[in-house]
Amino acid sequence: MPTEQHANEPPPAHVRVLDGQGWVGLVSHMGDETTIVNAARVSFGKRRESMDERDIVLLKYMLDNRHTSPLEHIAFTFIVHCPLFIRSQWHRHRTWSYNEISRRYTSVDLECYVPPEVREQAETNRQASVDPVHLDQAAAKALIAAHNQASIDLYHRLVGMGVCREQARGSLPQNLMTTFWATVDLHNLLHFLELRDSEHAQWEIRQYAVAIKQLVKPYIPNLAHILGW
Ligand SMILES: Cc1cc2nc3c(=O)[nH]c(=O)nc-3n(C[C@H](O)[C@H](O)[C@H](O)COP(=O)(O)OP(=O)(O)OC[C@H]3O[C@@H](n4cnc5c(N)ncnc54)[C@H](O)[C@@H]3O)c2cc1C
Repeated sequence: MPTEQHANEPPPAHVRVLDGQGWVGLVSHMGDETTIVNAARVSFGKRRESMDERDIVLLKYMLDNRHTSPLEHIAFTFIVHCPLFIRSQWHRHRTWSYNEISRRYTSVDLECYVPPEVREQAETNRQASVDPVHLDQAAAKALIAAHNQASIDLYHRLVGMGVCREQARGSLPQNLMTTFWATVDLHNLLHFLELRDSEHAQWEIRQYAVAIKQLVKPYIPNLAHILGW
């Protein structure tokens, strides 16, 4: 009998984020740095089996000069466990391929995010937050946790009454955790990481971007070094 793993369990290669409530795992990858330099060298009809110093110089040249199409020959598939509002930000990246758990199909494993630290609204930047100074952390987090639980209770009550899952899920908050698969080539992954491991990005998605760097670094060590990771 083939074994079936629960989708809400991370694969062996994963990094936990958001105080352990979220995670991102590496499901599989295709290609490595040799693939990139071979794709670049096909212009000259050349191919090599391993990297040497000239290849590292070539990698740097490609990045510096935005000769990025060879990066598209290597790809990564991740599984991501995150709150819905982070899923929304992530899925704006249209060059990735996604498949997500469907709350039309299943009611299992409903769980919600409670921020490890509640931040204050930034005064000058309307989309940003700042470190808390005046906030009562414990009170704010207790309110969030209570609302999360009340939403899940309402969901189960509606389903218990006979309401279909696809409508009952409307009672669930943005803090609901979701799980999706996401596949991307290296060129578009680097674009994502530049935007999302940035001080302009929300703290939560930034945690995932930092974790992804950790997961892919062993496959692109020279590129990671050139990029200063
Ligand atoms: C700090 C921050 C704040 C943001 N705030 C908001 C916000 O307030 N509201 C909001 O709606 N979004 C917001 N976004 C999302 C942002 O506008 C982009 O949708 C998101 O970052 C994905 O970037 P992208 O389009 O470059 O990536 P991808 O979708 O992966 O596309 C990669 C590249 O492919 C090209 N491309 C892809 N699709 C097209 C297309 N249809 N036409 C032309 N070129 C295309 C572009 O060159 C693009 O840069 C924010 C993003 C960040 C990082």
